[in-house]
Amino acid sequence: MRDSTNEVLRAIATYGPVSRAQLARDLGLSGPTLTQATKYLFDRGLVTEVEQSPSTGGRPATLLGLVANAGQVLGVKLAEDHAVGVCVNLQSEILWSFEEPFSSRGDDAVKELTQLLRKQTKLIKGQLLGIGIGIPGVVSPLDSSTADSAMLSWNKINVGKQISDALNTPVLLENDVNTLAITESLYGHGRDVSNFLTITLGRGIGMGLVINGELYAGSYGAGEFGHVNAISGGPECECGKYGCLEVIASSPAIHAAALAAGYISRSASMTKLWNIARKDKKIANDLFKKPAELLGIALANVINVFGPELIFISGEGVEGWDLWEETFKKSLYANVVPTMNKFDIEVDPWDDAKWALGATAIVLQASLSRSQSTNASSTEVKNRLRIATKSESRVS
Ligand SMILES: [Zn+2]
Repeated sequence: MRDSTNEVLRAIATYGPVSRAQLARDLGLSGPTLTQATKYLFDRGLVTEVEQSPSTGGRPATLLGLVANAGQVLGVKLAEDHAVGVCVNLQSEILWSFEEPFSSRGDDAVKELTQLLRKQTKLIKGQLLGIGIGIPGVVSPLDSSTADSAMLSWNKINVGKQISDALNTPVLLENDVNTLAITESLYGHGRDVSNFLTITLGRGIGMGLVINGELYAGSYGAGEFGHVNAISGGPECECGKYGCLEVIASSPAIHAAALAAGYISRSASMTKLWNIARKDKKIANDLFKKPAELLGIALANVINVFGPELIFISGEGVEGWDLWEETFKKSLYANVVPTMNKFDIEVDPWDDAKWALGATAIVLQASLSRSQSTNASSTEVKNRLRIATKSESRVS
């Protein structure tokens, strides 16, 4: 059965204040069904009436909007040596942000992370819906809790459950590239299209796929774009295979190539490498032509299969995007089936806080998702939003 209440909540959360007439039209709901759904949301203090004056003058319209403070969410993005986080309300407004040192490789990594999060949860006034954690690695789609990450040196660690038990709060983990894709689908240009891809360039190469408006999770994970084969019989990758895109086109791979060619010293940063390449066409060509070509071909292959309308390119590596762009686009368009080359490309500047915001979006999405939850934490987030907010009602 279709969950009209959830559809209404999702539409209001995604598009902001909206009239009843428009909701009925957009969602194809009858008057009585819409009234029943909005009454449920009103009773739980999730939705309120807001007046908005039309810019053309005339009578103010009564619109339905979210009660922003009916729930709060913590989001954290983990790197091997630090954690960046934000606390947001239901409208994804950032209430505060934090950055803490964190050592993912230590024996007490989960304990350390729990402590760090406990400190933040104590600052929350009102209902904490849950904690979202974005990690550079694979998260089991079955429980959104078990994580594998070469970058963090985590091997099948049940992080979510351990933290959830310790803090008595739902905890959802997600691959960090997927958190970016969810953010785009809820708040960015991704909300205007049904099918899009987010790719990230940097330490690794990742992909988030949004298909029919929902993040595609696969049965055993998905979006391992860095590990599609780019060169048959190429160098060994940390995944154990040979010739992966990541061993050619990730920042460490390009750094290693620059070092081997004598263009930089071992300690040089990527920023320094990009600046050297910008000043010398030959160096730029040596270091970026092949990676850009292979990235274009690999992405074209995915586009030919999924036919997306929009491609987001992000990650810390996009700071050097000017060195990739020309060759990448030439290679991409040369390899996409001509009838499918109507997609737009949007290059997003790198921003740590955006990834943390993405981690909050996992929790907000779990509360709004169309699909039935497959794990206990997602269900608990929904319950907290729908039931616990009763005590918070009329707070705006
Ligand atoms: Zn690989």
